[in-house]
Amino acid sequence: MIKQAVIMAGGLGSRFGNRTHAMPKGFIEIDGTAMVERSVRKLIAAGVEEIIIGTGHCSEYYDELAKKYPCIKTVRNDNYENTSSMGTLEVCAPFVRDSFFLLESDLLYDSIGLFVLDNDMRKNLILASGKTNSDDEVYLETDSSGVLCNVTKDKVSVKNLAGELVGISKITKSFLDKMVAFYERTRAENAKIDYETVFCRVAKEEPVFVRRIEYYAWTEIDDEAMLERAEKLIYPRIKENESLRDIRREVLLNPGPSTTTDSVKYAQVVADICPRELEFGNLMEEVSIGLTEVCADTKNYVTVMFGCSGTGADEAMISSCVPPEGKLLVVDNGSYGERLAKIAKIYNIDTDVFKSSTYEPIDLEALEKQMQSKKYTTFAVVYHETTTGLLNPLDKICPMAKKYGMTTLCDIVSAYGGMPIDLDKLDIDFATSTSNKHIGGMAGIGFVVCRFSELMKQKEWPMRNYYFNLYDQYQYFKKTKQTRFTPPVQTFYALRQAIIETKNETVEKRFERFSECWKIFVAGLKEIGLKMLVKEENQSRFITAVLFPENPKFSFNGLHDYARSFGFTIYPGKLGNIDTFRIANMGDIKPEEMRRFVVVLRDYMHSIGVC
Ligand code: PLP
Ligand code: MG
Ligand code: MG
Repeated sequence: MIKQAVIMAGGLGSRFGNRTHAMPKGFIEIDGTAMVERSVRKLIAAGVEEIIIGTGHCSEYYDELAKKYPCIKTVRNDNYENTSSMGTLEVCAPFVRDSFFLLESDLLYDSIGLFVLDNDMRKNLILASGKTNSDDEVYLETDSSGVLCNVTKDKVSVKNLAGELVGISKITKSFLDKMVAFYERTRAENAKIDYETVFCRVAKEEPVFVRRIEYYAWTEIDDEAMLERAEKLIYPRIKENESLRDIRREVLLNPGPSTTTDSVKYAQVVADICPRELEFGNLMEEVSIGLTEVCADTKNYVTVMFGCSGTGADEAMISSCVPPEGKLLVVDNGSYGERLAKIAKIYNIDTDVFKSSTYEPIDLEALEKQMQSKKYTTFAVVYHETTTGLLNPLDKICPMAKKYGMTTLCDIVSAYGGMPIDLDKLDIDFATSTSNKHIGGMAGIGFVVCRFSELMKQKEWPMRNYYFNLYDQYQYFKKTKQTRFTPPVQTFYALRQAIIETKNETVEKRFERFSECWKIFVAGLKEIGLKMLVKEENQSRFITAVLFPENPKFSFNGLHDYARSFGFTIYPGKLGNIDTFRIANMGDIKPEEMRRFVVVLRDYMHSIGVC
């Protein structure tokens, strides 16, 4: 798995003349997107966590791009005018930790190339294509064992042609170190040496192979003629190839599992691996840290993961976090609060329930009175009641529970990753969520983010549970980097990708996207004349519960089937006494899709005479 990429982007792009006088070549747009930005998106989709861009000419363009994509780190080659790609690579080298993708900045390419390199066993690998007729070909020659032995523009000199250099490679750190060492030794004679020539020299010490894709759609763009050829011939081919791999779009408006990106779906397609291998342990460790970082500081919190749904995480938390003789207070203002109480009772935990309206805010005074009256050790509440879309004010509730000495357990299943959350600031000790809601992974991993000091208290407690024991799962993982029982292997790869995408979008921007979708939907409801269960000001913006219209022709199933035929899945309400359907803003939903859904909803309502 390749986690880093280096893009060499220091060059002047002088063959473009005026166009690149005050702009780097990588920023030339094709179909409205700068070449380099398109490349960045493809790298992120391929699972790259960090992109190091070696800059020079007009470096400020790249610094701006880095503000848009948190995964980008720019490193300036101050001597770009007197060096070449190798000089830019040299300044990037100190930031490379492991095997990485190395790319030129002026490339337009089919993303399949990244997959092919990553999926190949060989460690140092240059991507090549068949004949391009581009007029600027760089030919790669290999020896009888397939190792690179010559890089040249002179085709006549090549005996064993391996292909044409694309400008995308997969390289180990040790190979890079050798390249840099070679450059240091020879700089005085040739500071302007190209990186591909250095490849060839270092290949004598550590083999580098060539992977050829005969009909690969790609081009570099060095001048106006190449740009024209790219726009007319190559870009349409790339677009078509990539669209053939698009997965049919279904927009899930149910409150999780949520719509996922294709890159998350594809992240599951990996070589088989035994989860007891260290490589997989490292992946789970990174995922666990990434999950913590979404809502807490890793100095004080750790995330413990189980193969289960969100309810499993709730069960792990409730059955593990109440001390042996402890007493629990649970807020029930919807199905999920009710579920927390049910779990506690099944485990014979001494539990009181504070019942509250499913659609009105909690009466905080009454709750405080209840907290004062009994000696509770532990308090449990749901942050976002998915039943109705009611967001409970944890910023007030949890500090109150703390005031009375309680440990705070929160189900943040359907809030986590969708809005900025800081567990420590909210006074939350334990929080549950799952891989398939706002974070945007596949269903199958439930997790508890734990305040470390509170988790450690459980060390001496007798076990009330087995599979779901939080402390045991934590300490076994810490010791072995393994879960005690078989983890959902491929789901972890998808979750890793979902975390990368969450970090790049940022939780703040994600919340803005959901808010926009919500506003579009609420405006649509008003236009159609449908009513909501919860007042706008108390809504989370993640779920809107809509009251059934009073119309004999309305049926939930009718609406469901109609919406489904347009690629939208809707979900019924969960309240026993009030009929609602729920529309969620979760996962990879886009405002234009919500706009389309509003039209579908209006057309259905119109067809039964509601509007
Ligand atoms: N808690 C909340 C607040 C939820 O919204 C959900 C699911 O919608 C769950 C718990 C349970 O998650 P799962 O269905 O994955 O068990
Ligand atoms: Mg060229
Ligand atoms: Mg070039």
